[in-house]
Formats: sequence, C-alpha cells, structure tokens
Amino acid sequence: MQRILIKNGQVVDPANERDGIYDVLLEQGQVAAISENISVDGAEIIDAEGCIVAPGFVDLHCHLREPGQEYKEDVASGTRAAIRGGFTSLVAMPNTEPAIDSEAAVRSMAEIISEKAAARVYPAGAITRGQKGRDLTEMGGMMQAGAVAFTDDGLPVTSSRVMQLALQYSDMLGVPISVHEEDPDLAGDGVVNRGRISTLLGLPAIPTAAESAMVARDLELCREFGGHLHIAHVSTRNSIDLIRKAKDEGLKVTCEVTPHHLTLTEDLVRESNYDTNTKVNPPLRTSTDVEALVNALSEGIVDVIATDHAPHSFDDKDKEYIFADFGISGLETAFSLLHDQLVLKGDITMNRLIAALTVVPATIFDLPGGTLSQGEPADLVILRPQDEWAVNPDDFVSGGKNTPLAGWSLTGRVDTVLVAGRIMMRDGELQC
Ligand SMILES: [Zn+2]
Repeated sequence: MQRILIKNGQVVDPANERDGIYDVLLEQGQVAAISENISVDGAEIIDAEGCIVAPGFVDLHCHLREPGQEYKEDVASGTRAAIRGGFTSLVAMPNTEPAIDSEAAVRSMAEIISEKAAARVYPAGAITRGQKGRDLTEMGGMMQAGAVAFTDDGLPVTSSRVMQLALQYSDMLGVPISVHEEDPDLAGDGVVNRGRISTLLGLPAIPTAAESAMVARDLELCREFGGHLHIAHVSTRNSIDLIRKAKDEGLKVTCEVTPHHLTLTEDLVRESNYDTNTKVNPPLRTSTDVEALVNALSEGIVDVIATDHAPHSFDDKDKEYIFADFGISGLETAFSLLHDQLVLKGDITMNRLIAALTVVPATIFDLPGGTLSQGEPADLVILRPQDEWAVNPDDFVSGGKNTPLAGWSLTGRVDTVLVAGRIMMRDGELQC
C-alpha cells in the first residue's frame, strides 16, 4: 500500500493531547509518524493547510437496516453516508429483520459487512431473542462471532429481571449493555415531548419520566448486580442528574447523546409546521434539557456523541405526524451541525467535540482506532471548519433523506476521509 503524507494540518488528537500544526505520515494502512516537517520519498501528498486533521469518527449507535429493510438503507449506502460524515467506524444496531440475536446471525452480518461496507462496522447483538424482551441471547458465542455490545435498541428491556441477568452477563463477559430507556406504558402512543408544545399542538405526549424512570431502575440494577451499563440517546435533564450521581459513586455507567438532542428543541416541531422529520424517539425536548445535555457533554458526564442514524423511506415519513416513523438520518450532518451550533457558539471546545466522536467511544466499547498514535489504523478525517454549506437531503447518499435540517446553512465540513490508509473521500467527493 502506498505512503500518504498529510502536510501542514492542525492535528487534533485528544488521546495524545496533541493540538498543533504537524505532518502525518501513513504507511501500510497505519499511522507511521506525526511530527513537524516530515519529508519522505514517493509519498502521495495531501495539503491540509487551514484544515483540522483528526482521527476518524466512531459512532456507537446507528441503524443500517440490513438485513430486512433495505428499502430504507443497506450496509453499502449507510457506510457511504458514514464516510461523508467523517465516520470510519460504526456500531450497527441489531433491530434488523430478523434481529441479530444468535451467533449465526452475527456471522452472516459479518459477511455482509465484509462484502459491502465502506467503513468499519461492528455488529451489536440483541439482548433478548427476537428482541421480545424475554429470553436472553447466547452472548458469549455472539461475542466470539464479533458482537461488540448488546442492546434491544428501538425497544426498552421492560422486564427488570431480564435486565438484571443481562447486567450479570455483562459483568462476567466484560461487554457493554446499551439501553434504550423508555417506559412503554408512560410513553404510550406519544409522539412529542410532554409540555408546552404538545399542549399547543394537541399531539399525544411522551413525558420525560418515561426515560428517567427507566434510567433510575437500570442504575439501581447496575449498582447491585454490576456490569457495564451504557445509556443510549439520553435526552433529559433528569436523566443527566441521575447519571451524574451514579458516576460520582463510581458505577460503571457510560452514556451517549445525539447531535439532534444537543442542538434542537421541541419548538422545531411547531416552527417546521409539523415536519415529520422532527419526529424522533426520544422526542426533541426543551431548551432546559438541551442546556443540561450540552453542559454534561462539556464536563464529561455525557461520554460520547452517537448519531442514532435512523434512515427511513420517503413513504415512512410522508404521513400525518402521529403515523410517521420515528427517526432522523444523521450521519451526513452530525459533525457540521455540532460544529456550527456548539463549537462556533463557544459551548463546546473543538477538542472536546473530537474526543466525544473518537477516542472516548472507541475506549468505552473497546474498539480499534479513535487515536492517531503510531501504529494505530490510518483512519482519519480532514475537516474544513470555515466552509459553509447548505443541507440538501437530495444530495444525501444515505437511503434516508429524513432530516429536519433541509435548507439549513452549516459552517464546518468534512473534506477528506481515509480508512486504513485508503482515501474514501477526497475534497468532498466520495471515492468509494
Ligand atoms: Zn433507541
């Protein structure tokens, strides 16, 4: 494999506390050297002056829809969307059709990935068979086949007893259990956050307690039975307060928040005139919640940003608000949205943003990459923080054009992406 030399970029590599102008040399698909003014013979040069050079992003939560729902997305389109967003590693949720709930299912997913994926994809396995919430899957065998975490995401684990057992296996096997926290009785058939907007619009509501009551339960279970509890898509201030307390106590709990919950509020449902692309689960919350999430991200109480990329077909969203599917196609806008809305406004530093997208997710799920240390995989992004672009869902390579950001102008763009030293996108143009 050829040598690539990335010159004069601002290297931001939080794992090594590096932030400055350096050259980066890639050889044999690995990071070979980082220092000032490297010169070597026979290397392809990429000029990164004015750009940020960072580890490729690692997404702990995305839905690639394959097998079974390829009309929404498949591994090829989803991973190309990931590359456009700067993500070089993804954890794929197992709520496919059928669910990834056995060793054989993990193996067949691994085959699809090796045939089609443009980025690294790590399958997550289901906690329960068929994600029905009753019988635990064979986690040990599924891990041997390549599952990196277990989750019934899309659905909560309603049985406390099943959750207890899952955490006990998590403890024994050293694997994270990622939980979608939602009390289904409280959430009912709600479609927006319970509060001012649900009242104004007369839409069925999901109370914040639907999330935080389940967070409280699972923290109690984690305290008593151990395991690594990873709380997916946290969306409320009350959940943050509970997680903060549990972390202070030293429980093995980590959590993620999505780009949309960090930047958008329930007001967008009204302002967009009931655009069903604002319909997401958990729902967009209030500015008080958003502020708590952003502060918690800044402090490290929120460990990582994960997209919960949830692509849907046009028809799935082209319905009355109450009937449309939940979810946002988020991979292609994540970095730009976060940079535009949080970094440029001074709420989060660039260093913290990149850490929450790279080394921290890689570390908590024990995945390769996330750093530019010598010998690590040459998974990199080159970012143009000054570039402004307008979001046009028709340009998405994801099968899901469902974004509430259509027409938004965002500052900050992913320019070039490498996976294992291969250029997958260059100057904003996909090469895969
Ligand atoms: Zn979920």
